[in-house]
Amino acid sequence: MTTNVDVVVIGGGQAGLAAGYYLRRAGHRFVILDDQERPGGAWPHMWSSLHLFSPAEFASLPGWPMPRWPDGFPPARHVVDYLTAYETRYGLPIERPVRVQAVRRDGPDLLVDTDRGQWRARRVISATGTWQRPFLPSYPGINVFTGRQLHTVDYRSAAEFTGSDVVVVGGGNSAAQLVAEISTTARTIWVTNRPPRFLPDGVDGRALFELASRRAVALAAGRTDPGGIAALGDIVMVPEVLAARERGVLTALPMFDRLTVDGIAWGERHQRADVVVWATGFRPALAHLRPLRLRDHTGTVPVAGTRALKEPRLHLLGYGDWTGPGSATLLGVGRTAKAAVADLDLDLDLDTRPA
Ligand code: FAD
Repeated sequence: MTTNVDVVVIGGGQAGLAAGYYLRRAGHRFVILDDQERPGGAWPHMWSSLHLFSPAEFASLPGWPMPRWPDGFPPARHVVDYLTAYETRYGLPIERPVRVQAVRRDGPDLLVDTDRGQWRARRVISATGTWQRPFLPSYPGINVFTGRQLHTVDYRSAAEFTGSDVVVVGGGNSAAQLVAEISTTARTIWVTNRPPRFLPDGVDGRALFELASRRAVALAAGRTDPGGIAALGDIVMVPEVLAARERGVLTALPMFDRLTVDGIAWGERHQRADVVVWATGFRPALAHLRPLRLRDHTGTVPVAGTRALKEPRLHLLGYGDWTGPGSATLLGVGRTAKAAVADLDLDLDLDTRPA
């Protein structure tokens, strides 16, 4: 069976919900298809001790502020509760669980094939995030090492590593937070392929969002790009990371050149390890767009704003700064979602096809 709508949104995380908020306000017929059993996008899968890097008021979606968290920065479960309540509050039409397998061109429309039937849409917004595509770099010896290897997505708590020798790989926020936590129960070594860049103490998500806003305004006005978050540094000194620095465990070694049977090695120097945690980031989850052949030679999807250059009926939301400054953050995605829906609005108005 094929269901006809104006817009299909793929992904029911924060980016999909922000799109839904503006689509509903514009009066479009739309559906949000999400492959999870429950609301929250990636947030229910994150490790339980994870806290946001900003206060609740800097983590709100459009329309309804995230309720305050009384004690410091909110934990991941507060985000899940907020996103769950947000869906209900705005009566967003979410079909769950529905896995989108492919988006294909069909005359003036796009066909969305799923494991629960087919949707025909005039426009598609893809908001599938990155959580389903953990990135693992390839290093010599990766298949030789007999210890345990896991990615950030598999991490649950430091308790399971008690007494072990653990290597954490990666230079971003996740890596720094995992080092801070795992080092409370295990002998922990941190390796990065360039020296970690710490934000000044006290610069948290608030400052980052202000920076993203300034960037969005500058770009919209056609001024020179003042640079994104990376211009400031990478790692937010959240309380756990500050505490780790106080304990003297926040010192990174250069990247090893190979894994061995029972550890890691830099030239002749060997370090025993039971566990290697790859906190090496993510890639956009875009397999469902493969039939559209959108990627360029660099492997990314070129966009103008949020619109795919090679398929103007498709918008991409979230994923990273390449779909808009701060688009892959709770607060930032609202601005990008608004722009995407406004852009697609114009489009639909220009569409002369009979309903
Ligand atoms: P997701 O939350 O991943 O949602 C995408 C949804 O689409 C998921 O439900 C997924 O299952 C679904 N999906 C995927 N493929 C398909 C398909 N083919 N068919 C149907 N459904 C599909 N941001 C902040 O603002 N503040 C923070 O403090 C912060 N901390 C972070 C900490 C970590 C460890 C990480 C990884 C990210 C953090 N972020 C933070 C960044 C960002 O807010 C999150 O990554 C967020 O989950 C992105 O939301 P999203 O909606 O783009 O993607």
